[in-house]
Amino acid sequence: MKCSCELGDTTILILEPEQYVGALKMNARRSTILQTENLTKRFGGLTALNRVSIKVERGSLTMIMGPNGSGKTTLINVCSGILKPDEGRVLFDGEDITGAPPHEIYKLGFIRTFQIPMPFLKLNVLENVLVAMKNSGESPLKAPLRPLWMKEEEENVKRAMEILGRVGLSDSWDKESFKLGGGQLKMLEVARALAAGAKLIALDEPIGGVDPAYANEILGYLSDLRKNLGITLLLIEHRIDLALPFADYVYVMDRGVVISQGTPEEVSNDPKVLEVYLG
Ligand code: ADP
Ligand code: MG
Repeated sequence: MKCSCELGDTTILILEPEQYVGALKMNARRSTILQTENLTKRFGGLTALNRVSIKVERGSLTMIMGPNGSGKTTLINVCSGILKPDEGRVLFDGEDITGAPPHEIYKLGFIRTFQIPMPFLKLNVLENVLVAMKNSGESPLKAPLRPLWMKEEEENVKRAMEILGRVGLSDSWDKESFKLGGGQLKMLEVARALAAGAKLIALDEPIGGVDPAYANEILGYLSDLRKNLGITLLLIEHRIDLALPFADYVYVMDRGVVISQGTPEEVSNDPKVLEVYLG
């Protein structure tokens, strides 16, 4: 620090330029969890993503909408490492993850739900969440120390039940997973992502094929995760009538390009968006 001076109750810090840059970077790390810069992905002659730059605020529910084929799924696939970009960068939680393999990105806490192995359908709901947890009980070194891992097991069950409560599956804890409906299975995937330590959960059309009442309930649970746990949610959705009210920030894509962004109100009043949806 160059120097500081007192002005009434306020201390003013005068920083060296490099300290200032450091402080700016720290701040960016705190507020933006995911960022893409000019991300481009081509499939042969088709440009599925054309210089896409987005920023996802930490702890937000950010929505990506756009008509079929506009590049939404490709965007999430490139960010989560399933596809490699042709150009551009992806930054997650302060790290450059461009082109990194999916399992590494997963370990950093960026979890795209279907990346988690499909729930073991024969296991019950609780067991599925327990399997997703990082558990040291399997360690051969710890195995003989039964009292130690018994305690850990107990705590894991408690934590798993708490997670199930947050996604509305408490009552189904002992159901075999194959007996769950489509929407409930998606919520089980969310529960497993939470158990695995997700910081950001990306969901591709989580309310597809779900009746409006349960769809609203699902969106409510997702929205609460961000409020109560600070989890960031990146949601692709095309049932915008239902999903838009839950979003903090929205990107609208068309033919591989971001054509609009802003609050739900801003994008739903944007003539460019109306043209894509109605025109
Ligand atoms: P959305 O999720 O918005 O419906 P996608 O990201 O799935 O759109 O697709 C964007 C475009 O890229 C579409 O024209 C689609 O046909 C094409 N596309 C997506 N994945 C592939 C692929 N693996 N190979 C070739 N073309 C693809
Ligand atoms: Mg898609």
